[in-house]
Amino acid sequence: MEHPENDEQYKGLKVNKGVADVPTVSPYLTKRLQRREYTPAEYTEGILKGNITILSQAVTLVESAKPEHQQVAQEIIERCLPYAGNSVRIGITGVPGAGKSTSIDAFGIYLIEKEGRKLAVLAIDPSSERSKGSILGDKTRMEELSREKNAFIRPSPAAGSLGGVARKTRETIVLCEAAGFNTIFVETVGVGQSETAVHSMVDFFLLIQLAGTGDELQGIKRGIMEMADGIIINKADGDNIEKTRLAASQYRSALHLFPPSDSGWVPQVLTYSGYYKLGIPEIWKMIEDYIRFTKENGYFDYKRNEQSKFWMYESINENLRNAFYRHPDIATMLPQTEKQVLNNEISSFVAAHRMLEHFLKNK
Ligand code: GDP
Repeated sequence: MEHPENDEQYKGLKVNKGVADVPTVSPYLTKRLQRREYTPAEYTEGILKGNITILSQAVTLVESAKPEHQQVAQEIIERCLPYAGNSVRIGITGVPGAGKSTSIDAFGIYLIEKEGRKLAVLAIDPSSERSKGSILGDKTRMEELSREKNAFIRPSPAAGSLGGVARKTRETIVLCEAAGFNTIFVETVGVGQSETAVHSMVDFFLLIQLAGTGDELQGIKRGIMEMADGIIINKADGDNIEKTRLAASQYRSALHLFPPSDSGWVPQVLTYSGYYKLGIPEIWKMIEDYIRFTKENGYFDYKRNEQSKFWMYESINENLRNAFYRHPDIATMLPQTEKQVLNNEISSFVAAHRMLEHFLKNK
């Protein structure tokens, strides 16, 4: 049909017939889409070259529950291991609203711009589910950092057991380090257990607190203050400066009540403002002092070795557990046996023993 604008009354204007859409997308793109799966050697090569797209794809494999993905992921990790380890790993925790994202954004930009570092921000959030969106490690929460080419931000792996989520994050650290990221942040939200998991994979544990929220005691109760190598009190700006100073001196006195730490390091308390970017260099200096101190007294390597040992046992436990629950016989036996236990026909111990014995004999 003739275009209406080609009507006599619009003489000055001539609309030509359009060209049909080209049936294919860019040949370069099709090529890429066809080639989504690399060999472990290719993945490793890409990671070592610092290719972020390949790094992201490898992390997705690490996070996948599919056995075939896990197999590839494990091989990539093994190939990357010799190139990993050369970083400062920092755990960051604080209750929601403490200012974790604001602080990570400010701190991260400082490290990249002023210290020339490359930063990966990972998260452990056992309560998250991909579909519902994670509240941690979300790029939109770290606006400036998300635009930085020297920053890699990855939300928490999807929900599973805390051990599983934490293992995936620990493996992701290896890949990020191999890709040249020499600073790793692992963020978590304060629910006790997830902090212990983060503590088991970082060199320095940073606790973000606020002044006068009554959370001070909470931290002590949940054993989080004992884990902290540094306590930083956020929002030291405007009218709040005096309050944060007071809180800092209270924390310092509280820390005196704890037994000395294994590292010999005395945890420090600093005030800062993530929002106004005040006191950020001092936080980095504290971390550098700690790294130097623990490298000199041997604690740095000792701790990393202990962590490797811990994760070996964690992996054994996780694999055993998964193999047991995924065994088809066990899947059918479980509901029946559970019923027998509930009906007091057999004891819990006998029930567990029977199923374990069956599993071990029929592996
Ligand atoms: P998160 O839940 O721990 O990640 O906390 P957010 O970073 O989202 O911060 C929670 C709220 O505190 C936001 O409204 C921030 O703007 C505000 N906030 C964060 N840091 C500061 C700060 O240094 N000073 C002030 N005044 N507000 C801040």
